[in-house]
Amino acid sequence: MAGIEGGCLCGRVRYSADAEPAFVGVCHCTDCQKFGGSAFATMVGIPATALRLTGAVKTFSKPGDSGKLIHRRFCPECGSGIVEEADALPGMTMISVGTLDDRSWVRPASQIYCDSAQPWVRLGEDLRSYAKMPN
Ligand SMILES: [Zn+2]
Ligand SMILES: [Zn+2]
Repeated sequence: MAGIEGGCLCGRVRYSADAEPAFVGVCHCTDCQKFGGSAFATMVGIPATALRLTGAVKTFSKPGDSGKLIHRRFCPECGSGIVEEADALPGMTMISVGTLDDRSWVRPASQIYCDSAQPWVRLGEDLRSYAKMPN
């Protein structure tokens, strides 16, 4: 892949990363639904050190299921969720795929927290599915 680039709706926050995605996954947890205002979140995981972020972001931190904090970073102007980091996944940054400039390559391989998925949501049969967070 040539590199990952993207930004928020208003354009004040931009990012790029020279990294191969470590994973692409869907999360159906209720916190991701609230944060994104949508039915589920789709995230690309990359090494945190690969991310170059420009523009100020605000961070909202809340414990996930594990009791460890999840830090969700968003544009304070337009509210777009840009990236998040979970203390349970040290060294990893997860990019919200809706903020990518080029989404053509995005293929989630797994979905987690299917227990709280909205009942109408049916994603590809080939996704590995987990009721909660896999160990
Ligand atoms: Zn913005
Ligand atoms: Zn989630």
